Amino acid sequence: LGWPEARYLDSRELVAAPDTHLRALAHRALATKRPSCIRSAAVDNASDVAIPIIVDDEIDKVLLFRGLDGATFTDEVAGTLAEIAMQIGLVISRERTLAKVRQLAFFDVLTGLPNRMRIHAAVDQAVASSRVADRKAAFLLLDLDRFKHVNDTFGHSGGDAILRSVAESLLSCTRPRDFVANVTERADPLPQTALGRLGGDEFFVVIPDISEARTAERVAERILQKLRNPVLYEGRELTCTASIGIALFPQDGGDPETLFRNADTAMYHAKACGGDTYRYFDEFMNAAGERRLRVENGLRRAAKRGELEVYYQPILDAATDNLCAAEALLRWNASELGPVAPDEFIPIAEEIGLISDLGAWVLESVCQQLAAWREQELEPIRISVNLSPVQLRTEGLVAAVKDALMRSEIDPEWIELEITESAIVEDSEVVDRALRELHALGVSLCLDDFGTGCSALSNIRKVRLSRIKIDKSFTNELPASASDTNLVGAIIAMAHRLGVRALAEGVEREEQLAALRELHCDEVQGFLTGRPVDPRRFARLLTEEKSL
Ligand code: C2E
Ligand code: MG
Ligand code: MG
Repeated sequence: LGWPEARYLDSRELVAAPDTHLRALAHRALATKRPSCIRSAAVDNASDVAIPIIVDDEIDKVLLFRGLDGATFTDEVAGTLAEIAMQIGLVISRERTLAKVRQLAFFDVLTGLPNRMRIHAAVDQAVASSRVADRKAAFLLLDLDRFKHVNDTFGHSGGDAILRSVAESLLSCTRPRDFVANVTERADPLPQTALGRLGGDEFFVVIPDISEARTAERVAERILQKLRNPVLYEGRELTCTASIGIALFPQDGGDPETLFRNADTAMYHAKACGGDTYRYFDEFMNAAGERRLRVENGLRRAAKRGELEVYYQPILDAATDNLCAAEALLRWNASELGPVAPDEFIPIAEEIGLISDLGAWVLESVCQQLAAWREQELEPIRISVNLSPVQLRTEGLVAAVKDALMRSEIDPEWIELEITESAIVEDSEVVDRALRELHALGVSLCLDDFGTGCSALSNIRKVRLSRIKIDKSFTNELPASASDTNLVGAIIAMAHRLGVRALAEGVEREEQLAALRELHCDEVQGFLTGRPVDPRRFARLLTEEKSL
């Protein structure tokens, strides 16, 4: 408008503005809800006008104009200024919306870190720039250990608190020039070192342009160290360690997809080593990944192809040496892989959501077997069936047990279900209800691998147990280890005081058996008293028992 001076103040500045007249004017404008101008009488041969800038129905700023040298604001000029102010308000509003959209598109809402999309772009760029510079780049994929447990125990807000603190730790562990999510940044230059959340409990760090792999190692170590410090959440200390997989450019891959996949494979290896550690990707890891893939695929077809079988391991009464029960143990003889151990395929079945089907198959098979032995006029015997924690958390378990019993017309008293401590530590309504209903159905419950889980004694009280199985890690050193002998003795005594029978697993040697007898253990199971065998061989054991 040809006025020689223009000042642009924001409201904070206004408070400090020296010109009280201007300030009063601005405050009056601030009180106005719609763009309007307030004209003052001329002061020192000047006239002022204040126009609020409205952004999304809120006064965001005030424009102050001063007409010098006797210039006054006509209605027309003031109207034009108000129009300009309105346009400015619209532009600011649009910019903010755009920033929000950008934030949502490229940044993770919970942690404010760049999201998967943005990280992918950063990987692309790191690969391209490192190739041009003929340098290395490192890619770290980080996954929290047992994060699900944190979520289950402390709820999602506890989980969120952990995720936010991990984000902070990651920011503090990477170099200062590392990228920090900054929404207002207009040019959006891709960071030199990028960091982001891929989703869930997975994070990613890109370190481009390095001369030696050790840099990646140092960053990984720093991150792990930091995550070992507990986070305070609602007065409780939470710790969540991480597993980190590292893939290097160019040796582990020349394109983002391969680098992602290999960092992921390396991360799984770090997890398999117990977590709280990092692993570099190694070619031979792919062989392991391939095996896992084959196990997954094979498992999906195993039941249909008739590759599954239930073996039965004898359980003896320790006092009489009589066969009193058996544990049903699943066997898988895969057509392509040969025999695969339950310790390998059960966790995979749990992960890929196949365990409930497998478990139902085992129950059905056990009930049919009991019916077949009944046909052969063999004495009925108690069979214990392992339940995965995942099965217990899944609706439909009780119905599956009921169906299997009904179809075979087997009395529930012959079925015992083995649950693990980890399945009942969480306070879960679904699990509690399933356990109540199973008990009401008449099947008995047994606590498997006792002593290896969280061993909260309250668990024993919470569930109506018939038996606890003392894990083989405790019976192993019997009787040579005095402390283990005392411990097993104490567990047996405790079980008896609670009216629960004690069963010792993993009995392999005579002296172990003798020690267990001395400690008044009720039942024993192990290679010494009988390996798991197929149903035909087990039937022979039943016949022998009958003829005794
Ligand atoms: P578990 O329930 O603790 O079963 C006992 C395991 O110890 C069996 O291994 C058995 O063969 C082994 N074992 C028995 N006596 C001895 C001994 O004297 N010495 C040693 N070293 N080992 C002994 P298996 O059959 O390989 O099963 C491993 C685990 O897989 C089982 O541990 C159980 O947790 C799981 N599993 C097996 N079948 C099923 C199933 O049908 N459903 C579910 N959910 N899990 C199953
Ligand atoms: Mg068991
Ligand atoms: Mg066991």
